[in-house]
Amino acid sequence: MKRIAILGSTGSIGTQTLEIVREQRDIEVVALAAGSNIELLEKQIREFHPALAAVWDTQAAGKLRENVKDLDVKISAGMEGLLEVAVHPDSKILVTAIVGMLGIRPTVAAIEAGKAIALANKETLVTAGHIIMPLAKKCGVPILPVDSEHSAIFQSLNGEHGNKIAKILLTASGGPFRGKKREELTDIRVEDALKHPNWSMGRKITIDSSTMVNKGLEVIEAKWLFEVEPDNIQVVVQPQSVIHSMVEFEDGAVIAQLGTPDMRLPIQYALYYPHRRPLSGDRLDFYALKNISFEEPDMTTFRGLALAYEAIARGGNIPTVYNAANERAVAKFLNREIKYLEIAEIIEDCMSCAGFMPEPSIEQILETEKNVYDYIESRW
Ligand code: NAD
Ligand code: MG
Repeated sequence: MKRIAILGSTGSIGTQTLEIVREQRDIEVVALAAGSNIELLEKQIREFHPALAAVWDTQAAGKLRENVKDLDVKISAGMEGLLEVAVHPDSKILVTAIVGMLGIRPTVAAIEAGKAIALANKETLVTAGHIIMPLAKKCGVPILPVDSEHSAIFQSLNGEHGNKIAKILLTASGGPFRGKKREELTDIRVEDALKHPNWSMGRKITIDSSTMVNKGLEVIEAKWLFEVEPDNIQVVVQPQSVIHSMVEFEDGAVIAQLGTPDMRLPIQYALYYPHRRPLSGDRLDFYALKNISFEEPDMTTFRGLALAYEAIARGGNIPTVYNAANERAVAKFLNREIKYLEIAEIIEDCMSCAGFMPEPSIEQILETEKNVYDYIESRW
């Protein structure tokens, strides 16, 4: 039996992870954590029987504790709950499927406790990659990418015996506004931005995909996971989302991973690495597909992607500023407090005003986040 814990079990990645558990039948779920959806979390507890479940919201945790008092499960709350789930003594793998920088502390704690990390929570690596990657190495813990592009790169590197990567070709769908110009995006509503052409995902990442900030975060994520300089990470728009990313080697060979857009594959690959297991679902039909097309990303319209390259070039705490400003701006857009194009404007403004810290500690990363939030509150 494989034993896993999941941070963010009620979300898009979390529920798909549990679908794999349901299908494969040889994974035991020992701990779950969620934000506030206690109805779904209760269903998951009754189906998967974890020993521990954590809810961010203290009141909701109390209510859940009452609702499941017939079961033998401990209910925790807040950051302490997340940390408890992250280091649960019975689990071997932690699936990090919560959204945002909130994942930093639990991920660090899990690595220190020797858990393998199946990493979906990209914001953690974007802001603290310089801490997490060396720590994982020191603790002998694998970081297994769940993000589809990074899983594709990881799969493309399999069997390469450490051959040097010349270039990562990070594919992007281009999102729902591909081909549009800036002027056409002024009145984009929340509903429009939440319609992704190929993938069904959580709300925050769906907005990030539409602004291409998601691809920016992924460039930074790839830098940390595969130790490739940003100049050698090229974003290629591939609107059908069939090629999930590619690696070019020094001899010019390009290895890619292809498949239907189904997140269960990268999740399952991370859970069973290096083994492949059968997986239900559609297969690529190349006769029906006919063609796969490619484009260069429009970084003038999608400023968010250009700003990611700037953030990583400046380094230090600037990727944290980029990420924190985006997290807050997206929350404000989803709340209909700001306009669509203001998301990138806020990121750019925060990046130009932020104080620089060269090698930020976790405390300094969290301090940077707070400063960015305070600054945004004072201005927007
Ligand atoms: P989601 O919004 O669907 O789910 C988020 C989960 O985190 C939920 O279970 C929620 O309850 C939980 N959560 C939120 N706030 C919490 C808190 N304060 N404490 C505890 N739990 C909390 O998000 P998602 O789309 O599943 O994305 C999760 C992560 O995976 C993100 O970092 C995203 O960028 C990354 N990712 C997602 C996809 C995808 O297809 N959805 C693909 C690649 C990467
Ligand atoms: Mg991705």
